[in-house]
Amino acid sequence: MVLHEQRTPLRLEDRPAPEPGPGQVLLRVRACAVCRTDLHIVDGELPRPKLPVIPGHQIVATVEQGGRRFAAGERVGVPWLGWTDGTCRFCRTGRENLCDQARFTGYDLDGGYAEMALADERYCFPVPDSYDDLHAAPLLCAGLIGYRTLRFAGDAERIGLYGFGAAAHLIAQVAVHQGRRVFAFTRPGDAEGQRFARELGAVWAGGSDEKPPDELDAALIFAPVGALVPVALRATSKGGTVVAGGIHMSDIPSFPYEMLWGERSVRSVANLTRRDGEEFLLLAGQTKLRVEVQRFPLEEANAALQALRQGQVRGAAVLVP
Ligand SMILES: [Zn+2]
Ligand SMILES: [Zn+2]
Repeated sequence: MVLHEQRTPLRLEDRPAPEPGPGQVLLRVRACAVCRTDLHIVDGELPRPKLPVIPGHQIVATVEQGGRRFAAGERVGVPWLGWTDGTCRFCRTGRENLCDQARFTGYDLDGGYAEMALADERYCFPVPDSYDDLHAAPLLCAGLIGYRTLRFAGDAERIGLYGFGAAAHLIAQVAVHQGRRVFAFTRPGDAEGQRFARELGAVWAGGSDEKPPDELDAALIFAPVGALVPVALRATSKGGTVVAGGIHMSDIPSFPYEMLWGERSVRSVANLTRRDGEEFLLLAGQTKLRVEVQRFPLEEANAALQALRQGQVRGAAVLVP
């Protein structure tokens, strides 16, 4: 499923299998989860995808033609971070997520909305056996970048999650497992979403227009809505942090300095490092996360994107070739 021009639907095309270059593995895609970032790419909110591009960066695949690290037949996961230069000042200081030359799967490189794909094997992960292909796919971005977002909450005990979609439904479980208290914020009036959040261990769930019963130590924002930044800040106590976990957000409205005062901070999370991936997948293997998926055949990628655009996906949408 190929994007030729932003703000146009993906097109179904037949192409020959790609040829792996040095260091690359040829993959047979088993499942590819749909990320909100894919939607930002298709909708023109991210500025410079290679075009045409095959989107998709939450790939679970079996290796068809192996390399040094992974042999044919092994199962691997392919995340958003597809390549880094390894030499810039960010890479040299353990921050490859900020690499100046980074290439991203499904954006700079063709991704997983396909039957076959290529990946640099150094950026692939082994996938925990306790998840089948369908349920493993959302771990690769929703889980993984959600986990990086949670890390920036430090040792916060009371965590607010704004936007209870693919990332939040996984991270809520991780946070509960770590002994934190989770407060889930959905779209106002989304009673079913709030019930879902409570089912996954949230101590409180309500609309993003509601005030939680306790002040938050940290708030993680997964919805692409800048207006949630001052809302979350208002719910966050002194010394607390508001972390924006998405790659794109609408403009943040101005707010009085008083709301930031008291050593509150606001920060973003960009991409992932391979270390984040290894840590999170290890944890996902040890604590069986409940992954809620909505399955779409690959050729219905446009319908999956539309469902996500309209907020109609419970958990994560996953494409299956
Ligand atoms: Zn993503
Ligand atoms: Zn670099």
